[in-house]
Amino acid sequence: MMDGGIIVLLGPPGAGKGTQAEGLTEKFDLFHLSTGEALREAVREGSQLGLEVVQIMESGELVPDHLVSEIVVKCISREVQSEGFVLDGFPRNLPQAGFLEGARGLRPLVVVNIDLREEVAVRRLSSRRHCVNCGRIYNVFSSPPEKEGVCDVCGGDLAQRKDDRGEVIQERLRVYREETEPLVGFYSEQGCLVEVGGSGDPQSVFAQLEGEIGKLTWLTRNSTE
Ligand code: AMP
Repeated sequence: MMDGGIIVLLGPPGAGKGTQAEGLTEKFDLFHLSTGEALREAVREGSQLGLEVVQIMESGELVPDHLVSEIVVKCISREVQSEGFVLDGFPRNLPQAGFLEGARGLRPLVVVNIDLREEVAVRRLSSRRHCVNCGRIYNVFSSPPEKEGVCDVCGGDLAQRKDDRGEVIQERLRVYREETEPLVGFYSEQGCLVEVGGSGDPQSVFAQLEGEIGKLTWLTRNSTE
């Protein structure tokens, strides 16, 4: 059994879960598991899993629970020595939350809801770009690259995710409201929910996050400062 715990990041698409997860991973030496990124990798590789999920992802729907749960179990078993995990994008509905509780007896120790208004989420998602080579994230308005369309870090081309466009964004927000948002109440009842506002810049959101969870002893033990 691992020593560390699990931090679950909840919030609508565009709330900054990936960015905050990176920050937590770096500062507290945790393992970052993004189910969305794991699925996108499977699509890039053209694996059986990738072929099964590509159309679902491009439509903004959720991939079947058993496929995503398998990714999570494999990762947790492989990284069992890790000091702890940041789950970004999982659980996404109540059955997945039940699965997480049952899996190896693990319970998320802390669930952070990054709150964001829908109109801000739409604006952020439609202006988000990523480097096809190194994955670095940009926003054409708030954090543009120095040269349009080119990654500052590696010179790779910048692209827009297929699900970061018009109607698919609306569908993802609908799925979030119907499937994922009920988890806020679920974890609140369990007494492990903390809330942070996601509308500020990434640094100010991280400062709130640290204020809320920085007292966890298993976490601060790993701090890189
Ligand atoms: P994300 O990168 O978290 O925005 O996820 C991108 C897409 O991957 C989602 O719109 C879903 O199609 C799929 N996905 C990611 N995580 C899950 C999950 N826990 N359950 C079902 N589908 C997921």
